[in-house]
Amino acid sequence: MCSGIHVEECDVKKWYQLDVEQIEQKLYVTTSKGLSSKQVDQRRKQYGDNALEAEKKTSKWLIFLKQFQDFMVLVLLAATLIAGMLGEFIDAIAIMVIVLVNGFIGYFQEQKAEKSLDKLKELSAPMAHVLRDQRWEKISSRDVVVGDIVKINSGDRIPADVRIVKANNLETEESALTGESLPVMKHATAISKENLDAQDQVNMGFMGTLVTRGSGVGIVVGTGMNTVMGQIASLMVNTKKVPTPLERKLAELGKILIAVALLLTVLVVALGVLQGHPVYRMFLAGVSLAVAAIPEGLPAIVTVALSLGVQRMIRKKAIVRKLSAVETLGCASVICSDKTGTMTENQMTVKEVYLNDQTLHVTGDGYNIIGDYQLNGRPVDREHSNLEMMLLYGMLCNNASLQVKKGKYYVDGDPTDGALIIAARKIGLNVSNGEDFKVIKEIPFDSDRKRMSVIVEDANERRFLITKGAPDVLLPRSTYLLDNDQRRILKPKDEEKIEGAIDQMAEKALRTIAIGMRPLSSEDSLDTAFLEKDLTFIGLYGMIDPPRKEVKKAIEECRQAGIKTVMITGDHVKTARAIASKLNLLPENGLVLEGHQLNQMSVEELEDIIDDVYVFARVTPEHKLKIVKAFQERGHVVAMTGDGVNDAPAIKASDIGISMGITGTDVTKEASSLVLMDDNFATIKAAIKEGRNIYENIRKFIRYLLASNVGEILVMLFAMLLAMPLPLVPVQILWVNLVTDGLPAMALGMDKPENDVMKKKPRNPKEGVFARGLGWKIVSRGFLIGIVTLIAFMLTYQNNPDNLVYGQTVAFTTLVMAQLIHVFDCRSENSVFDRNPFENIYLVFAVLSSILLLLVVIYWEPLQPIFHTTALSLRDWMLILGLGSLPTVLFGFTKR
Ligand code: ADP
Ligand code: MG
Repeated sequence: MCSGIHVEECDVKKWYQLDVEQIEQKLYVTTSKGLSSKQVDQRRKQYGDNALEAEKKTSKWLIFLKQFQDFMVLVLLAATLIAGMLGEFIDAIAIMVIVLVNGFIGYFQEQKAEKSLDKLKELSAPMAHVLRDQRWEKISSRDVVVGDIVKINSGDRIPADVRIVKANNLETEESALTGESLPVMKHATAISKENLDAQDQVNMGFMGTLVTRGSGVGIVVGTGMNTVMGQIASLMVNTKKVPTPLERKLAELGKILIAVALLLTVLVVALGVLQGHPVYRMFLAGVSLAVAAIPEGLPAIVTVALSLGVQRMIRKKAIVRKLSAVETLGCASVICSDKTGTMTENQMTVKEVYLNDQTLHVTGDGYNIIGDYQLNGRPVDREHSNLEMMLLYGMLCNNASLQVKKGKYYVDGDPTDGALIIAARKIGLNVSNGEDFKVIKEIPFDSDRKRMSVIVEDANERRFLITKGAPDVLLPRSTYLLDNDQRRILKPKDEEKIEGAIDQMAEKALRTIAIGMRPLSSEDSLDTAFLEKDLTFIGLYGMIDPPRKEVKKAIEECRQAGIKTVMITGDHVKTARAIASKLNLLPENGLVLEGHQLNQMSVEELEDIIDDVYVFARVTPEHKLKIVKAFQERGHVVAMTGDGVNDAPAIKASDIGISMGITGTDVTKEASSLVLMDDNFATIKAAIKEGRNIYENIRKFIRYLLASNVGEILVMLFAMLLAMPLPLVPVQILWVNLVTDGLPAMALGMDKPENDVMKKKPRNPKEGVFARGLGWKIVSRGFLIGIVTLIAFMLTYQNNPDNLVYGQTVAFTTLVMAQLIHVFDCRSENSVFDRNPFENIYLVFAVLSSILLLLVVIYWEPLQPIFHTTALSLRDWMLILGLGSLPTVLFGFTKR
């Protein structure tokens, strides 16, 4: 049976052996139109997602069981079992239940963290550029089906196996597949040889391989597991989750904390036994205390807090690809940002055209084809000297297309190219005017070359080259000048004039592009390396790309936060300067450096002045690496943006690599740790703010949890030292641990930033967990919590020596209330009175529900024997609240 689109199995010929027309026939598609949405739906149903089968997940049971593997929890369970056998059934069961509930909480936290990480993966999934229903659109690579026509560009990962039907200098790197890291040149013609290996099928593009140069179009012939990559997918290694620096620091710290907690616990047990308490009871109390006081769950809560923060960042249009970036963001001291598209709108509009020593003004705004050309305020018509030719050439040497969606024009492709199409449409030029010309070869634009060329053949089969690009790149390559209808030698005097025109445009913040041509004879080789010379200079375009509205304020906020913003652009230095001053980015004595100056400097020389540099102009992606290194050498934590394939090394080398969600290539996205969904500079600022906040929130709950634990241990220790009865029984200790640690700590992780987060200097990345007074805060608050609990116990017990349960209930309640009040103290680095306690509604809710649970175990009779509690009076509560609030109120005044 040879039907449908599964030709490989039955047809003798392989995809690489077929002509494009044959493939079109097999797959029921036309390259110029693409599939219809009906075909797409049907194929998706039939063949499913274009994805490699997901790796196996850890089973839910395992995650649940993992919560109990902790050594102390096992000891506790064993001790409980012994207690049960000795007849203390109620205690034993109560402890079991609490341990189980604790396990559930751990389980849910881990699940939550896992889910949000999954969601992240989805969000940063690669996109594909496909032609469907005759329209180019960007879709998730997952939705690509067999028969789709896809466009691939340098920096893309090829979304599926494709047969190349058009290639412009197309090169791919297939090491993921073949192990060969040298790029392979691709072309579009059929190969007749039999049994070729993947690496020799040079008219095929394979899923997951990288486009390193050029561009092309392909027809999808295999998706998902039916690709070459799919066949070896099982061999691929799963990526492990690497712990963030903070998680690592905490894991280290955890070991010390465990040791200290164990030591103190042993001390408590030993003292208790010495004072004549029964051994097994002290043992159970000791183990409970150890379980409660050891912050074994800290790294897990940190992960939860990080991933909750990550979700908040998503809402602000920043996707974190590496969890560690959340932490590093808070340390950023320099942001190196692309100008075009990140600080500006990337909405180019040609405002001026210079030709024949005249500057024409172009009216009309944005992607709107209405507008005209004026000379000294008077409109000129399309016959005006070489205007029509220049605009036509601009449209031919072009990679974008103008599309209509819901009655509105939009540009598919590079906005710079789009602007040239709009400019041509304004005098009524259309693609159809270009039909007499055939583009037979293209040398694509890239930021290193700063130019793009096409070879065009006219109706009489005469060939010529059109080149457009940065004027300072084109001028040295021009030998002639088009002066009205004459071609003549370009003299130094002409060059001066042109440079004057460039300066004038650039000073108005216009981006400048020059255009030129060169007739080719039929003998001229089409070898692109030698073509772009001896050009005939035609004219200049000056296009505006307005700064984004939010950026100026964002730069100012960064400045207040001790973060320097640096603009990086391939544009003319004057254009860069003009935009920089519009954004208030360049201080009076700030420096502007150009690419050619950077070339002549060593990293060391650059280091000496880099703190004064605010703008880098006419740079290529290679310069970015030098810039990152120099800043890092100066001790900065550098955030660097990029979009093109060549930006990847700099992004990787920076501390926070940032890529563009809309215009970014897959390569840069993969190298980055943060993706801006809206390509917007202001989003970087928002992410930094969030990053700082997350770190502060983590500090908040570390402080809260540890101070609580210090309090718990100390009250037991002091009681034993003073030869008193146990102020808390094991169930109570475990209950305190469960109720106060769980929800309130999580709620602290959701806290809003303090007003001054963006008024402080960036955090030193080397600072320890207890830096900036956190250690003192923990010890001092914890100490007081322990003391007030002990006082409450002593006062009650002294007056009722034969009612130990009463004294223990008061101690238990005081400890819980002191912690629940103290949680509000943790929200501020300064004083509890600085913040509105009701601002964090999660926290209010968490505290209220903890109080409710407390009331239940005190007042609900069936639970009283289990928790060793008794009902309290109003007077007791006055004592409890008075003492319980003391640690927080006291330090609220001293502000230490
Ligand atoms: P940026 O960093 O501002 O995006 P680029 O490196 O992309 O700068 O562009 C540098 C210069 O190259 C521009 O000032 C312009 O003169 C020229 N240029 C930009 N885009 C194109 C294009 N699509 N075709 C030809 N030249 C271009
Ligand atoms: Mg660019």
